[in-house]
Amino acid sequence: MDCLFCKITNGDIPATILYEDDDVIAFEDIMPQAPTHFLVIPKRHISTLNDLTDEDAPAIGKLQITAAKIAKQKGISDAGYRVAMNCNEMGGQTVYHIHMHVLGGRPMTWPPG
Ligand code: AMP
Repeated sequence: MDCLFCKITNGDIPATILYEDDDVIAFEDIMPQAPTHFLVIPKRHISTLNDLTDEDAPAIGKLQITAAKIAKQKGISDAGYRVAMNCNEMGGQTVYHIHMHVLGGRPMTWPPG
C-alpha cells in the first residue's frame, strides 16, 4: 500500500520514533508547528476518522493514552498541550492514515485556523 505512515511503521522510511508497541507508533512530526510536535498513529492502516468501526475503540483509546504518556516524558503535561486529529480535506488532513497530532511548548490559540 502506498501510504507514507505505513512506510514509517514498516521501517521503509526513517522517522524519529518516540514509542512503539504492537498497536501504535509515535514519532516526531517532520515539520513541527510548535516546539513539541509529535504524531501518534495506529499501526493498522485506517485512512480517515470516517473509517473507524467499533472494533477500533481500544486502538483509538491507546492513541490518546500514548500521547499523554509521551507528553509527560517530554515535560509539557503541566503547562498543557493540544491534541488534534484532522479528517478529510476541509479538516486539513494531508496524510490519509489517521494520526493524532500532539503540540506543546507554546501557547495555543482558539479557534485553530
Ligand atoms: P495532517 O495534515 O493532519 O494530515 O498531518 C500530516 C502531518 O504529517 C503533518 O504535520 C506533516 O508535517 C507530517 N509528516 C509528513 N511527512 C512526514 C514524515 N515523513 N515524517 C514525519 N511527519 C511527517
